[in-house]
Amino acid sequence: KTVVMEDAAILYPSPAIGHLISMVELGKLILTHSPNLSIMILVTPPPYNAGSTAPYINHVSATTSSINFHHLPAVSLPPNNSPHHKTLVFELLRLNNPNVNQAITSISKTSTVRAVIMDFFCYPGLSVAADFNLPAYFFFTSAACSLAAFLYAPVMHRTFTKSFKDLDTNLDIPGVPPMPSADMPKPLLDRNDKAYEGILNSSTHMPKSAGIIVNMFESLESRAITAISAGLCVLDEELTPPLYCIGPLVAANNQAGSDDGTSNECLTWLDLQPSRSVVFLCFGSMGLFSAAQLTEIAVGLERSRQRFLWVVRSPPSEDQSKRFSPPEPDLDALLPKGFLDRTKARGLVVKLWAPQVAVLNHASVGGFVTHCGWNSVLEALCAGVPMVAWPLYAEQRFNRVVMVDEMNLALPIKDSKDGFVRADEVEKRVSELMDSQEGKSVRMQVLKMKAAAEAAMSEGGSSRVALSKLVESWTRG
Ligand code: UDP
Repeated sequence: KTVVMEDAAILYPSPAIGHLISMVELGKLILTHSPNLSIMILVTPPPYNAGSTAPYINHVSATTSSINFHHLPAVSLPPNNSPHHKTLVFELLRLNNPNVNQAITSISKTSTVRAVIMDFFCYPGLSVAADFNLPAYFFFTSAACSLAAFLYAPVMHRTFTKSFKDLDTNLDIPGVPPMPSADMPKPLLDRNDKAYEGILNSSTHMPKSAGIIVNMFESLESRAITAISAGLCVLDEELTPPLYCIGPLVAANNQAGSDDGTSNECLTWLDLQPSRSVVFLCFGSMGLFSAAQLTEIAVGLERSRQRFLWVVRSPPSEDQSKRFSPPEPDLDALLPKGFLDRTKARGLVVKLWAPQVAVLNHASVGGFVTHCGWNSVLEALCAGVPMVAWPLYAEQRFNRVVMVDEMNLALPIKDSKDGFVRADEVEKRVSELMDSQEGKSVRMQVLKMKAAAEAAMSEGGSSRVALSKLVESWTRG
């Protein structure tokens, strides 16, 4: 008796909730095209998987039967002395390789694996896919402009002798607006850091893949997409693999971390506020502020007299074990005396986590102060909410320049060199977003791009066409 094996695609996200969520959404999108496929997502175990992944994974498993999770075993890491989270991630993903090999072997016993899709940081997995003769794709979960910069990094590495942090110049990256060198993605700033080496490795590996899938749609960043496709961003001897702009993909109903009652609290409170009157402040899965910075935000918000919904976390702890699971903040101790009381008629502070997608799509929300994580940007765009760009980590300073100078989707927060923002800047920028001509102009552009995104994702739209091309490239034959 012959056993008919089902076709499977293996998706390999790097360990952060934002990346996991995007991979799951990519899996769901692929299923809309090929409903009989089985999607297998490789999950790196805690504590490296920042954010609360367990409730999210349970939710997805319970609601989408064709998406399965394969939990990789833990690896033990040597002591880490780099200041960058990404160094640790690269090391972890390198050590993950034997486990990825085992996972593919075991999945292949019951399914015909058609493709491996991994994110940018998982480039060591490329050689594992090659061992199995499987086509390997990268899933790039940030702007096409930052893809252009990453692909171009090896070229810049040859051009300059100084680190970007010391260069003090505007970089001319094909398809990208003039980029202050200090705003390059954080792990690229110092060429003596291991994280730099990791990114450079990834950048040189990417062109060797079967294709790069970008969570993005063509009309938002046509300049960058044209530059990449024309081969302007890679070293001469390398070819640019096909680009598949299949986005914007956002989680329709993001359940991550929302099993603690905060979701109801936020949404019930928003129900009571006037239309488009509330500014939402939320800084990704890892955004933390010092106590001094929290005070400045509170003072600025209070002075702005705008309605607000603000997600607050405890300041960063010296204790590395708390890095990925900050303790509940003590709001009375952290915020200015009397702040909660004085603002309770027009503001709500929630601890740790809010159901961001639901909040952004609530009719009472009119603006978003974001850390410029790419999922957050796309979620705001799809909800038609204009932004204030307040970058914190990863490639977020880069994103701010792109969001402001290339896309006109956000107003820039003005921070000091070390990232500190004063109360009067918070007040000014929040007021500007909610109540000024500049704010209005950004809002109009966001609404225009929201419509363009919907068109790209509908039948015959550019993102749908790209998806068919992608899936057909590996299901053929
Ligand atoms: N998120 C959320 N509630 C929070 C913080 C984050 O739902 O309080 C979600 C957010 O909607 C987004 C993801 O977590 O989908 C964060 O991804 P992003 O790429 O914006 O930033 P990262 O956390 O990777 O820096």
